[in-house]
Amino acid sequence: MDLQAQLGYFSMAVQFTTWQHPLPDSAGVAPLLLLDMSSLPEAEWSGRIQTLRQRFAMGQLIALRVPSDFEQLQQALRGGCDSCLLEGTPSHAIVEHILELNERHDQEAYRVLIVEDSKTASHLIRRTLEENQIVSEIINDPRQTLNALRQFNPDLILMDMYMPNCTGVEAARIIRQHSEFLSTPIVYLSGETNVALQVDAMRLGGDHFLTKPFNPVFLNAIVKSKIERYRALRRTMYNDSLTGLLNHSSGKNTLDMMLSSVAHDGGFLSVVMMDIDHFKQVNDTYGHPVGDQVIRSISWLLKQRLRKQDIICRYGGEEFLIGLPHTDAEQAFSIMDQIRQDFSQIRHPYRDRHFIATASGGIATYPLYQNGDSLIKAADEALYQAKRDGRNRIQTDED
Ligand code: GH3
Ligand code: MG
Ligand code: MG
Ligand code: MG
Repeated sequence: MDLQAQLGYFSMAVQFTTWQHPLPDSAGVAPLLLLDMSSLPEAEWSGRIQTLRQRFAMGQLIALRVPSDFEQLQQALRGGCDSCLLEGTPSHAIVEHILELNERHDQEAYRVLIVEDSKTASHLIRRTLEENQIVSEIINDPRQTLNALRQFNPDLILMDMYMPNCTGVEAARIIRQHSEFLSTPIVYLSGETNVALQVDAMRLGGDHFLTKPFNPVFLNAIVKSKIERYRALRRTMYNDSLTGLLNHSSGKNTLDMMLSSVAHDGGFLSVVMMDIDHFKQVNDTYGHPVGDQVIRSISWLLKQRLRKQDIICRYGGEEFLIGLPHTDAEQAFSIMDQIRQDFSQIRHPYRDRHFIATASGGIATYPLYQNGDSLIKAADEALYQAKRDGRNRIQTDED
């Protein structure tokens, strides 16, 4: 099946079965089920979907090839499908839908720093957040706030008002003197009911005021919505909008930070510059929007294949900067060469046909090159060697 092959290129393991067969046991852990509704009589839809929903309470159910009628969509959604893709949806659009779901799924847990002198109160807050899968760290002495911010890197701070040594408002003002924490949301959580004092607290660096005893549902709702906004703001600052990858400047900054941490621990760090081959021709032949789609597909592939700790950055138009910590040149070559091969197999749709694209890459490795700029320059030179040698290849700077 075409869809199965396309998903395979993005490293998704696919198992295939029919409505007539019982589901394999391994399906019990499947995160995602694609249901071909066109091969199931409509009278059976509700029952079958409901049974699957119960069995895969945590999984995603996606109904494929659903007619666009109101009633049929209603049946599929009411039965418990998370989304429906209509009849005639091409397989590349199904792949994109799944990749996007995957990305949302992969989001890291929300992180909250609780600054609160009372141990009982802080544990109660932590338990409340835990019920919503929000990770938290507690500090009972507000003077530890800056250290905790740097080490724990929270998405939000829940701040008590009255603590020994330092009030919550003072702590918030101190936090705001540091530019890297200027936009981290601070929510006060306090027994203070004097509205004038609450307003004052917000004027001095806070974002919201909740009173104790708190309503757990409300606390979680506020925390989540503040974090979502904060993350969206950070994304616009640090990530590229077409691909979601790190943008040029944050990619370079992250590389410098990674370099000093690798230098400290000892070890290798490989830097890869990757560039799509003859991309001008792709744009000229199929149009700029199709070109954008090709850029997104290589980005998805990189995200799927590389580790969480790796740097993946859209360095320029169709050029990518990749940082692989604790990876020597040989290992980097084998990882990148597999990605290159798989990219060259992906079929990019154009009208009722498809085309393929290729990419080339150059690798340079620390400690042979000692700083970010020289690593990038050496990787870039290796990339141009790969281009001169005929493209669709990976070149290390050593040979
Ligand atoms: P080479 O194999 O030597 O890399 O050839 P190339 O055609 O890919 O050459 P080059 O890297 O110089 O061309 C990059 C082209 O990418 C030029 C520009 O029009 C196009 N481009 C840059 N950014 C974008 C973008 O965001 N979207 C699209 N669709 N095209 C872009
Ligand atoms: Mg207190
Ligand atoms: Mg190019
Ligand atoms: Mg280029």
